[in-house]
Amino acid sequence: MLNLLLFGPPGAGKGTQANLLIEKYNLMHLSTGDILRSEIAAGTSLGLKAKTLMDRGDLVPDEVVIGMISSKLDNNPSANGFIFDGFPRTTAQAEALDNMLAKKGTTIAGMLSLKVEDEELIRRLLSRGKDSGRADDQDESIIANRINEYNTKTAPLKEYYSAQNKLSEIEGDGTIEDISQKLYTVIDTL
Ligand code: ADP
Repeated sequence: MLNLLLFGPPGAGKGTQANLLIEKYNLMHLSTGDILRSEIAAGTSLGLKAKTLMDRGDLVPDEVVIGMISSKLDNNPSANGFIFDGFPRTTAQAEALDNMLAKKGTTIAGMLSLKVEDEELIRRLLSRGKDSGRADDQDESIIANRINEYNTKTAPLKEYYSAQNKLSEIEGDGTIEDISQKLYTVIDTL
């Protein structure tokens, strides 16, 4: 199995690159943001609770996203591998993921961390907000809160995976193709 972790701040381009990687390596895309938004669209009680937090740019509770990922892993036993996008976002989530994968006799092959300056992130998110309709992409103070959540709770995971020798940092500036080429080069060494 090839399990990859696509990492970086909101607006770094994780979703865009994940869509290219799943095609090239025949992997399954697991985006907790997408799963949460489909819960909201389906009007589930989980979705209702998550929406308030997401609209503010706060993280949803660890147990909620860990449970979602756990059931996706259980429901796809014959997958070639997974691309985790937007998960894990806290140390508790990273530890839970390590345990879930260990139980399946597999592990994370590498963390691909996209690096983009804050000004560029804000510009990309506001531009996406114009056509996506995502409330969390339309307000600069909510975007600032998401970047702050990333810097305080999520960015420390680079240390967590670096300690396992799994961290690769990739410049997230440039064209989509430039960035995907850099990702392929790293993945092909894993
Ligand atoms: P982005 O990467 O642009 O912030 P996502 O779609 O990954 O967008 O996430 C949108 C929102 O969903 C986050 O701001 C957060 O509220 C919630 N969310 C997604 N994944 C997680 C997670 N692993 N842990 C906690 N909250 C999450």
